Amino acid sequence: MESLTPEQFKRYSRQIMLMEFGLEKQTQLHNSHAVIFGLGGLGSPASVYLTAAGVGHLTLVDFDTVDESNLQRQIVHREDRVGEKKVDSARRTLEALNRWTQIDTFDRVPDETELAALVENADVVLDCTDNFDARFAINAACARAKVPLVSAAAIRWEGQLSVFDFRDPDCACYQCLYKDASMEGMTCAESGIMSPVVGMLGSMQALEAIKALTGLPTLKNRLMLVDGLTLACRTLNLPKDPACPVCAGR
Ligand SMILES: [Zn+2]
Repeated sequence: MESLTPEQFKRYSRQIMLMEFGLEKQTQLHNSHAVIFGLGGLGSPASVYLTAAGVGHLTLVDFDTVDESNLQRQIVHREDRVGEKKVDSARRTLEALNRWTQIDTFDRVPDETELAALVENADVVLDCTDNFDARFAINAACARAKVPLVSAAAIRWEGQLSVFDFRDPDCACYQCLYKDASMEGMTCAESGIMSPVVGMLGSMQALEAIKALTGLPTLKNRLMLVDGLTLACRTLNLPKDPACPVCAGR
């Protein structure tokens, strides 16, 4: 494991001084690889916080380009990048933020083989996509590779968050939660989204990813629901489905 330079130690000192974190976990972050699927409303804050916090290697996956209607909430992008690929736009922001984070990009919809390869090389995966097909495919790929998956979603004023930790054979997965793969998904384009709500959820994804990478307790086997209108927050137990086609019998 590559140790931190004195410059890096200084940079991350406010995290290193945390009793539960310390130099060992900061060094783990520096040597970690996170893969982020989706550089939209959730992936924007998640990628910014993971980069700022000192994750050493990020891979950004998105097929889309920046649209003016994205800028209301997708804070990793900028006005002068409308029309640019989201992964390229995000890379510019992140590289300007932390020269010690290696940023790789993948700018199309991965096929099954490419998805498996992207996930196998990750220490943690963040699902910041906005459609059910991608979510089920990412979940199944993480299950096969036994890589922890931090999953969030937000619509209108509401958000939800969970961690599917496939390193633990008793952990529930995304498929346990949403049994029906044909379920119709709602999108922010159709239903609307309050900007800071995705900011909250994406930031919490970064937090859970940092904890999953460093062995701290996460939301695994629990589902957190937050309502941005009232700031009421509920955490439900999320049991593993013994008949789940993805994670049962592992
Ligand atoms: Zn499952």
